[in-house]
Amino acid sequence: MKKDIKSFTYEQLEQEMLSLGEKKFRAAQIFSWLHEKDAMSFAEMTNLPVSLRERLSEEYRIPSLEIEQVQVSQEDGTRKYAFRLEDGEVIESVFMRYHHGNSVCISSQVGCRMGCTFCASTLDGLARNLAPSEMLSQIHMIRKDTGERVSHVVVMGTGEPLDNLENLVAFIRLLSDPKADGIGQRNITVSTCGLVPQIDRLAEEKLQITLVLSLHAPEDELRKNMMPIARKYTIRECLDACERYFQRTGRRISFEYALVENVNDSTEHADVLAALLKGKNCHVNLIPVNPIRERSYRRSQPQRVSNFKKRLEIHGINVTIRRRLGADIDSACGQLRRKVAKKDENPAKTGAGMRKEGDLT
Ligand code: SAH
Repeated sequence: MKKDIKSFTYEQLEQEMLSLGEKKFRAAQIFSWLHEKDAMSFAEMTNLPVSLRERLSEEYRIPSLEIEQVQVSQEDGTRKYAFRLEDGEVIESVFMRYHHGNSVCISSQVGCRMGCTFCASTLDGLARNLAPSEMLSQIHMIRKDTGERVSHVVVMGTGEPLDNLENLVAFIRLLSDPKADGIGQRNITVSTCGLVPQIDRLAEEKLQITLVLSLHAPEDELRKNMMPIARKYTIRECLDACERYFQRTGRRISFEYALVENVNDSTEHADVLAALLKGKNCHVNLIPVNPIRERSYRRSQPQRVSNFKKRLEIHGINVTIRRRLGADIDSACGQLRRKVAKKDENPAKTGAGMRKEGDLT
């Protein structure tokens, strides 16, 4: 298998060139073709000698994504993309406009093995990790398609980013490299369901990204019902890892809390949550859950959402409610991907590498 040249960080690409017996400056040229000019082939790299271009195409490949489907929200211009990968797998990404700039939400894996009960991304299990280039290309393709600047990136699409840690870190280094996209690390947000050892490993990378913990419940028993990972790591262990992360990086971790009607949205839940986070100087983002067809969860009524928020505020917790974008398109994680992948199961249309429902979960 040829090596994926777009997944190398700048330093790694320099090493690759040296190992081919080439000068280091070739890395600068190739890096610019790949990350500034969005080159799709080595033939385009006209400032490289033909012999080097040939050698590169023998040993390396530039993975590409294809737009399979785009859904555009008539309400707010949110665009949801289904991309086809080279092996036939499908992933999804979302483009959103905010007052602070345009944001792209990317996937980090094909499917997910975390099994959160309210999430559509995990219903078919994990197929494979995404390469750094595949994470990056989601942004590049959207930039090209919209013709607009992207200033913020959130890793909150399909997948558990810390379950693909090495590729995630390479992706962040590429995305924030001023020689490439140059998106500031503070504008990159990574969301995790709470893989404690990986949070510690990520802290060692000393990145300035924003890390968010998906909490969703203030007590372990309830959290275990919603998120299987809670059977492995307690809330206390997660919060301690967040504290260590802050000590190492100077970056506070914030919390996400999906509100599910009559499951985790009572006044008592808010009180227990507030007690848990007391004195932490943290931020809680409330997300009224997006119901998925396969589960019976319902979104909390607006009144309950605002009561929950007020209750946290009484306790001095800094809290916001996630603005809902793209409500008229399939906006819950993983829903569009499943729709496109399902279409593939129709034998009239062949899709290599498609999985049947239910394996690997
Ligand atoms: N695996 C990571 C990131 C992907 S999900 C994580 O767990 O954080 C991004 C966020 O969306 C997480 O907080 C996740 O719990 C939440 N989410 C998943 N499905 C949802 C749904 N149906 N409605 C609302 N939020 C959902």
